[in-house]
Amino acid sequence: MLIVAEREIANLMTQEAAFDAVEKVFAAMAAGDARNFPVVREAIGHEDALYGFKGGFDRAGLALGLKAGGYWPNNLEKRGLINHQSTIFLFDPDTGKVRSMVGGNLLTALRTAAASAVSISHLARADARVLGMVGAGHQATFQLRAALKQRSFDKVIGWNLHPEMLPNLEAVATQAGLPFEAVELDGMVAADVIISITSSFDAILSADQVSPGTHIACMGTDTKGKQELDPRILAGAAVFTDEVAQSVALGEAQHAVARGLIKPSDITQLGAVINGTHEGRSSDDQITLFDGTGVGLQDLAVAAAVVDLAVEAGVAIEVDF
Ligand code: NAD
Repeated sequence: MLIVAEREIANLMTQEAAFDAVEKVFAAMAAGDARNFPVVREAIGHEDALYGFKGGFDRAGLALGLKAGGYWPNNLEKRGLINHQSTIFLFDPDTGKVRSMVGGNLLTALRTAAASAVSISHLARADARVLGMVGAGHQATFQLRAALKQRSFDKVIGWNLHPEMLPNLEAVATQAGLPFEAVELDGMVAADVIISITSSFDAILSADQVSPGTHIACMGTDTKGKQELDPRILAGAAVFTDEVAQSVALGEAQHAVARGLIKPSDITQLGAVINGTHEGRSSDDQITLFDGTGVGLQDLAVAAAVVDLAVEAGVAIEVDF
């Protein structure tokens, strides 16, 4: 078995490698070659922790396994550890023997940023210039960095419920040589691409704050009850997702579907656009929306890529198991 420690991931994994891995696995999902298994997420009754498994099998990429982990809200205060903790396990699909164990914390941020970047690459207008960020927490900086690579953006604008966090975004924009402007939500009408990545349980963006032709990557809503957008935005948009069942059950589309504003059959897997079986954006005026819910196959894809990189770099730890 090969072990790739969490501390090695930052030196090994690039945004580009994460983008390629996620794009490929979305394509495999849409082609019917890869599927996610039902997600388990449980309150364990200890340390207020939520723990679970996201697994799947990609027959095209031969990645079989799961991400195990969750959220320990007391970690930072009590132990100086980050609250989100996860580890990815890969198994040999020919024999079932465990093949690798990979630190999953940084990889989760990279694969989530890669998902919205893939959506921007395939769905945003080619002439998109202004990137709007709703949210400025841990994930937001990864999202912003990966998104900036996808179009010739010339400005970043941002809104956050807690404005004291906005310098997180400004630092990334400045590093990329772009101006940053903090805006009110009404200011988002200037954005050509909007990424929402918050922990909100109520709609933040309303329909009149989104201009025609915008691409929205809605990334924060990954649990039943969470919400970032007015459901009417989805009703007026071409809606894409990583996985339709998850989008309807716990993604942003849960609200629009529950209110009868859209049907599950109105939602398209992003992989179909990647594979060329769906045209994607149909006009410059259309609003396109990616409901990025986060699937286990994304984790397996980036973990498999990082194991190859670790072997190449000579930092994978081999254990006879
Ligand atoms: P974080 O705690 O670092 O930041 C939270 C962000 O949400 C901050 O910008 C904060 O100001 C904002 N926020 C908090 N409460 C809010 C409210 N009531 N209304 C509006 N904004 C609010 O968290 P993070 O690590 O950046 O994660 C952000 C979200 O992304 C979480 O909901 C997380 O579950 C989700 N997430 C999704 C995926 C995916 O694959 N789709 C993957 C990882 C994380």
